[in-house]
Amino acid sequence: MKRLVVATRNNGKIIEINALLSGLVDQVCSAADFVDFPDTIEDGITFEENALKKAREASRFTALPALADDSGLVVDALDGRPGVFSARFAGEGTGEGTGDAANNARLLEECSKIPAEQLQAAFVCVLAFVTPEGDEQLFSGRIAGRILSEARGDGGFGYDPLFLVDGLDRSMAELTLAEKNSLSHRAQAFRKFREYLETLK
Ligand code: IMP
Repeated sequence: MKRLVVATRNNGKIIEINALLSGLVDQVCSAADFVDFPDTIEDGITFEENALKKAREASRFTALPALADDSGLVVDALDGRPGVFSARFAGEGTGEGTGDAANNARLLEECSKIPAEQLQAAFVCVLAFVTPEGDEQLFSGRIAGRILSEARGDGGFGYDPLFLVDGLDRSMAELTLAEKNSLSHRAQAFRKFREYLETLK
């Protein structure tokens, strides 16, 4: 594939995606490369809806194949919350009482009322790929674990310190970046997307 637009302004994500797609896409561009790139309102109630909405708007605006992702933490005993609200669990925006630390504090507070053996959870990532010709594909990844009663480790981001990975006696924040990138929800979804792109070659 010659060009692909990634519907994000997050530089970290762009660098990560460039590496994940090396050899398969000649040029990966992003929202930052276009004037007036649409800011999609993420009002879906599923990861799929939000990822598709972002990819559709990006493809329509640029007339290029577009890739968008949506991800978050799903806690069974909280009926799937924070889910699509993961980034804004404690509050909207960027002010005081919002962001990773506040989100983690809210998660700990809500989970403190639930017995430890009922704290199963998963990180989920959905990628949507949409072309100007109307092809739409979804790829998802999931990693299972449980919510800890206190933070462990200082790697990763977001809810990583509170997420004990199933099968490992380590939190997501205690994994090296290479370990996380080999098994994470995002890595799994990207692996599937790469396999799909290979079939188009
Ligand atoms: P987004 O898909 O980049 O908007 O991420 C949504 C939110 O889900 C993030 O702000 C984090 O709170 C959470 N999240 C998604 N992926 C991860 C992860 O790998 N580790 C920890 N938190 C994550």
